[in-house]
Amino acid sequence: MAVETKKTFCRFCHVFCGMEVDVDDGKVVDVRGDHDNPISEGYTCPKGRSEVDRINHSERLLSCQKRVEGQLQHVDTTAALDEIGERLKAIIAEHGPHSVAVYSGCGGHRTAAGGPWFVGKWLEALGSRGMYTSYTIDSPALSIATGWLFGAPMPFGSPDIDNSEVAMYVATNPTVSHLWTMPQSNPSTRLKNSLKNGMKLVVIDPRKCDVARRADVHLQVKPGEDATLLAAMIKVIIDNDWYDHNYVDAYCSGFEKLKASVVDFDLDYAAARTTVPKETIIEGAKVFATASSGAAQTGTGLHMAAHQNLCVFLVWVINAICGRYDRRGGMTRITGALSQPLPENMGPLPIPTFSGEVSRIRGIRGMSGLFGYNEMPTNTLTDEILTPGEGQVKALIVNGGNPALVFSNTERTVEALKSLDLLVCLDLFESATARYADYIMAVKHPFERNDIPHMMNMFYPQPFMQYTDKLVEPPEGTIEEWDFFWEIGERLGIRAAIPGLPEGRKPEAEEIMQALNANSRTPFEDLKENPSGKLYGDRETEVGGVIPNMIGHADRRIAVGNPEPMAELREVRAEPMPVAGSYSPDKDFEFRAITYRMPEVYCTTGHNLPRAEKKRPYNPVLISPEDLAAHGFADGECVIVDSGFGQQEGILEVSEDVASGTLGIAHGWGDPADDRPVEEKGTNVQALIPAHERYDRVTGLAQQSAYPVNLRKHEGRIIARSA
Ligand code: SF4
Repeated sequence: MAVETKKTFCRFCHVFCGMEVDVDDGKVVDVRGDHDNPISEGYTCPKGRSEVDRINHSERLLSCQKRVEGQLQHVDTTAALDEIGERLKAIIAEHGPHSVAVYSGCGGHRTAAGGPWFVGKWLEALGSRGMYTSYTIDSPALSIATGWLFGAPMPFGSPDIDNSEVAMYVATNPTVSHLWTMPQSNPSTRLKNSLKNGMKLVVIDPRKCDVARRADVHLQVKPGEDATLLAAMIKVIIDNDWYDHNYVDAYCSGFEKLKASVVDFDLDYAAARTTVPKETIIEGAKVFATASSGAAQTGTGLHMAAHQNLCVFLVWVINAICGRYDRRGGMTRITGALSQPLPENMGPLPIPTFSGEVSRIRGIRGMSGLFGYNEMPTNTLTDEILTPGEGQVKALIVNGGNPALVFSNTERTVEALKSLDLLVCLDLFESATARYADYIMAVKHPFERNDIPHMMNMFYPQPFMQYTDKLVEPPEGTIEEWDFFWEIGERLGIRAAIPGLPEGRKPEAEEIMQALNANSRTPFEDLKENPSGKLYGDRETEVGGVIPNMIGHADRRIAVGNPEPMAELREVRAEPMPVAGSYSPDKDFEFRAITYRMPEVYCTTGHNLPRAEKKRPYNPVLISPEDLAAHGFADGECVIVDSGFGQQEGILEVSEDVASGTLGIAHGWGDPADDRPVEEKGTNVQALIPAHERYDRVTGLAQQSAYPVNLRKHEGRIIARSA
């Protein structure tokens, strides 16, 4: 049979790049970028190009698994659904509906029909508040800062860098992370084009990451000291009169409070605390503020570090006082292809920051969701499982996620997973978490199901949408995520209340997608006629109508002097000057370890694929040449990383990208149940992170970046790196 080429889009990560896939006799044999896709224009990254390996992987689960006497064994899908349904019924009868929770990880967001927007409705029907997602592991600071600054969600998508004179990136490396801090597909080329057109680039990052290497000004801040640096930059901007007076007068409140709050962050103090030279602080502030357009953006490096909400707030304050919201070349919006245009004089979106639910753990509040579901703070889930009493989580369904690698305090997380009455994982593989599962539901690979890039609707740089049919038949024993929840719901006598779903029968996946997007201005028929996807409207982003109309504060002003972050800023100023890696004088740490992303893997996905395994099947501990020499360590040496809370083996890799005193260790590695040596499984960062100490008092998030550690000799083993 001849090889047939089919159009689709990648779902390894949230960017959904267009792809052409070669299918030979029902088997995927090759993938490449689709040059007809008007957004990704043929771009793919190494992860996407690994999809052929992922779908055909020898370890892929081709049928559902059930644990019997400690061992996994094949189970018929319908039998598994029946058994899980029965066990859930019993758990709910004994402990109530809140005892059932779902954790939707990155993989769980890659399906339009089975993502958290669907699962959240399913849990609502069940009467459980137990929706948890990866958002509250690394980014709730975005919601808090939004509430503080604007008082309501804002409809801004990616920054308008095609029209920007300057871009500022704070602890984000969009050319690798592909986050929305830049139009996500083909970020390197987009950045290169903007820089060629004269855009200036300012980067704040402890690591000389890819974007920092291309920056006009790189502020290589000491990890964890961003709040001081940002406050000093705001002071420089105000003192030099580089802010936008007209914008501040027209749209901001609390400017004088802001000015008073940063007055103590003078350059001498900031330079000493952040290790960024005074001249560089001035230059960074000047290049950003004196440009006539551009936006500052943050990433997970900031969202997981000390004073995360305050830091995001301060970055956005810089945008606000420089007049960059709802302005060409700054933060703008698009009307997504699946959305309706905002009505004239649209008021604030009636979505509060918090859902009204409060976790039993540390009193952390649940968050409201822009995607139609609320969620509980994931950083409390381990303790919600282990803490007896009303509302204790007894059954957990993990949809495309990996708590054993991404929840803080790995040991306690594993204890929690083991203690559950029922753990069900929906996954392509037996993940580190699935090792403790009672059932693993083998899911279809994305190429085996129809789909739309639902999650990206508002984040594409232009209104764009695409529909894909399945490309190959799924293995017989696999199931789709939405189908699992639907079938379990049938057994429990509940149905997700989504208007528009057919009455009296099971829907098709496409009907769920349509019902979830009932307000779409684009008919599905049209999507289907354009296999490479289609732009729906101008390439121009939209400006006007958001500021001040959609601001939620009563005065309809951007609250740059909001009392809550201003009080936290005073606390920052009152902190002791850091000595080496320590945050407090009574603790003795030499380093602060930051997180970063590795291009071959995505969070906890892709580590078992040949491309990653061949290059480096572990996450190295990046160390500066100075620190390597000072300690008498060797490049590739296996050492102990000690946070005072936990200890992990790590493999040193000398890197000019980190300054002395900084280490870089990527998250998402180091299966705690894997007996192989560290060079074959990596270092588990979360085993170093306590969930109960140094956590954010609003979001409950543990400090997972810029955390203090020491290094010490281990066995003197040197791990040779493959060429
Ligand atoms: S950036 Fe890479 S992994 Fe993400 S969708 Fe594009 S090709 Fe796939």
